[in-house]
Amino acid sequence: MNDASMTFDTVVVGGGPAGLTAAIALAEAGARTALLARHVPYADNRTTALLGASVDLLDRLDVWRRCRESAAPLKVMRLVDDTGRLIRAPEVRFVSEEIGLDQFGYNIDNRTLVAALEARAAELPGLTRVDDEATTVVPEDSVVAIVTRQDKTLGARLVIGSDGRQSLCRDAADIEVRRRDLHQAALTFNISHSRPHKNVSTEFHTPQGPCVFVPLPGNRCSVVWVAAPNEAERLMALSDEQLSEAVEKQSHSILGRTNVEPGRHKFPLAIERPTAIARNRIALVGESAHVVPPIGAQGLNMGLRDAADLAEIVREALGLGEDPGAAPVLQRYAAARRSDIASRTFAIDVANRSLLSDLLPVQTARAAGLHLIGAVGPLRRLAMREGLAPSWRI
Ligand SMILES: Cc1cc2nc3c(=O)[nH]c(=O)nc-3n(C[C@H](O)[C@H](O)[C@H](O)COP(=O)(O)OP(=O)(O)OC[C@H]3O[C@@H](n4cnc5c(N)ncnc54)[C@H](O)[C@@H]3O)c2cc1C
Repeated sequence: MNDASMTFDTVVVGGGPAGLTAAIALAEAGARTALLARHVPYADNRTTALLGASVDLLDRLDVWRRCRESAAPLKVMRLVDDTGRLIRAPEVRFVSEEIGLDQFGYNIDNRTLVAALEARAAELPGLTRVDDEATTVVPEDSVVAIVTRQDKTLGARLVIGSDGRQSLCRDAADIEVRRRDLHQAALTFNISHSRPHKNVSTEFHTPQGPCVFVPLPGNRCSVVWVAAPNEAERLMALSDEQLSEAVEKQSHSILGRTNVEPGRHKFPLAIERPTAIARNRIALVGESAHVVPPIGAQGLNMGLRDAADLAEIVREALGLGEDPGAAPVLQRYAAARRSDIASRTFAIDVANRSLLSDLLPVQTARAAGLHLIGAVGPLRRLAMREGLAPSWRI
């Protein structure tokens, strides 16, 4: 690396919500940071149920005030067994007031969230924006060399791979990934409806996966409908009128008359677990580090915790005069993230498998587990707190 002006403490590769948050948090932590990402509008219509700690983080990073008006508070979460099976779980209601909170969090569309993150990133003097993409990433002894599509060269003591599922950075770090295709797909779209949602998010558990209605401001909800691939294909091909009818039926008309808004996307579901989260001066955040199905709104919430933890560890390292890409710093990051990622990936996998299983003992265990959570106050409150963030962080 001979161009000192293009050498940074940290270079963040990938400008999705996790990468943007990491870049802002790292610049705020005092690291000379570059964000290497295409400056393009967010491409799909997903929304994110941001749980408590994620909102606090966005507030601390001066992002939240820029998008809070577009977010709907989530006060109640209902889980409804819609499997139609012989053994069904009772309905479980999680109410935020029961754990002393006005709301569990807020649902916001990713486009608005990413625009607010972009606006904050553009203000930070310690954050250099490189509107390009990485084509090669090569870890060397004291620096990682990055070459971009437009043939620029960047150097970083630490590279943050927030480049999503097909992560070039993960390959460059020589980290393998275990991938399990779930043979399910999620359809995402938004609806308007005639009855108010009252800030209640409702998750119908069908034998093919959950169908979730998450409040947006006004009489609107975002829908994540998980189904077998061919059923998702069929739903995707319906007209707006036909899909409106289908989704109203699936919701058991709890929201009254339902109208599907234009625009829908389909995501094949998988669980992805890299064998390490950091190696060779490269740390992973967001979906390069973990992919889980959309159950319990955990994916990006975990990605934001990756970003927050990494920024704190880099802040401490720089304060102590340490090299932020050195192996002991990466080990601290791996230790900080291990339990959160492993335990949530496991819990989501078990919840998903128990829904899909035709085995009577599995259905009975699932029904009994949900019955216990629904009926036993302390257990229910524990489940709520753990759903928001790992208790050892609060
Ligand atoms: C249907 C569905 C519903 C979901 N709902 C929720 C929810 O309610 N709550 C929740 O917490 N999570 C949810 N998630 C998960 C959440 O959407 C993801 O965790 C999140 O979007 C991942 O963000 P990311 O920034 O890690 O990755 P991405 O958004 O994939 O960003 C990666 C970026 O890196 C860029 N990139 C790739 N390669 C390069 C390169 N070589 N150089 C430069 N840039 C590169 C890409 O263009 C992209 O912009 C849901 C997921 C699905 C599928």
